[in-house]
Amino acid sequence: MYKIDNYNFSGKKALIRVDFNVPLDKKTLEVTDETRIKGALLTINKIIKDGGSVILMTHLGRPGGTKQEKYSLKHIISALNKNLGKEVKFADDCVGQTAIDQAASLKSGEILLLENVRFYEEEEGKPALPETASDEEKKAAKAAVKERQKDFVKKLASLGNCYVNDAFGTAHRAHASTTLVADYFPNDRMFGYLIESELQAMDKVLHGGSKPFTAIMGGAKVSDKIMVIENLLPLIDNLIIGGGMTYTFIKAQGGNIGNSLCEADKLDLALSLLEKAKQNNVKVYLPVDAINADKFDAESNTNITKTNETPDGWMGLDIAEETIKIFSQVIENSKTIIWNGPMGVFEMAKFANGTSSIAKAVANATSKGAFSLVGGGDSVSAVNKNKLADKISYVSTGGGAMLEYMEGKELPGIKIIRGK
Ligand code: AMP
Repeated sequence: MYKIDNYNFSGKKALIRVDFNVPLDKKTLEVTDETRIKGALLTINKIIKDGGSVILMTHLGRPGGTKQEKYSLKHIISALNKNLGKEVKFADDCVGQTAIDQAASLKSGEILLLENVRFYEEEEGKPALPETASDEEKKAAKAAVKERQKDFVKKLASLGNCYVNDAFGTAHRAHASTTLVADYFPNDRMFGYLIESELQAMDKVLHGGSKPFTAIMGGAKVSDKIMVIENLLPLIDNLIIGGGMTYTFIKAQGGNIGNSLCEADKLDLALSLLEKAKQNNVKVYLPVDAINADKFDAESNTNITKTNETPDGWMGLDIAEETIKIFSQVIENSKTIIWNGPMGVFEMAKFANGTSSIAKAVANATSKGAFSLVGGGDSVSAVNKNKLADKISYVSTGGGAMLEYMEGKELPGIKIIRGK
């Protein structure tokens, strides 16, 4: 496997899968957050500096295999030009004749942006069918898309003569541009700098993070995090649980949870997880108090009770002071920290304090020398909202991809390049 640093792009046309799935203003369709564009600059600039040219492939939003104006990548061109300090060319169909011609005439130092790869069903290999379609129809349509996908991948591959994957956020998907196209470049495929740094950060915690090692898991559901937690148990010393999934654990232990979120079919699973934690000598911290609301609403009435004494008719939507104190202390005494998922319904100001406080505790621990890795859209946005991104060791660009890697799963986009 090549390291991008050791590859000379002089005279090459590098086909790069980037993640420019950036947020756009609903009215003006201008880019509102350029983080993902900035994340790819190191890779693009290395190729240009070597004397190569660049062909950028990405998706934007979920057009589901159909062409939709609001998801066109032309909306990001000016932000891209500004960040690159040069004008990019644009191909309005990622595998059309214009793309083929433009790629062929690309000169050293030039950059071509392809239109949204998800305008084609072939990218994800999923047919754009109405939910009402019968199983038979779905099966036949899927087979047809898979067949057409081969031609789509071949056309994409024909645009360049080496392949760089720098889109960590989609590395867990076996899509045409993230995985399948790499098959065409057995000797000329590599990760970009962004994926390299993501892997480095995750491998650092998975293989020998300093102790004490604390995992903080939040968010809505236990079922989404169960595999990660199980995979981390042999490595960690402390497991902090927050967010909606708290209540499945509290209920499983016989507490009153009122109307709080609960996965009734996961109670046994929650208990067995606590048992496994014990067997691994992992100390589990569940919230001891909570801010409850009388409805799921930013304007609801609130009260504070013990987590296992949530009154009937109320639901716990954030961790309260005592819990914040206990969690912060554990975090600030840790040397390795991973955090995925909010501690409460942080989208509503009334229930954002718990998540913000945890972000601050992780930043404090980092300033005392801990290695911290934060991933998942919500935790990352809490870190950004509190202007703490530069106080965290590594802020991951991939929520789902990070979780799957932490679960010990093979990510197709990683495997095809790394070969294991
Ligand atoms: P996830 O995608 O599983 O990481 O969950 C994130 C979502 O969990 C966010 O939208 C939060 O608003 C939500 N969440 C966090 N805590 C709670 C809670 N106590 N009750 C209901 N939803 C919650």
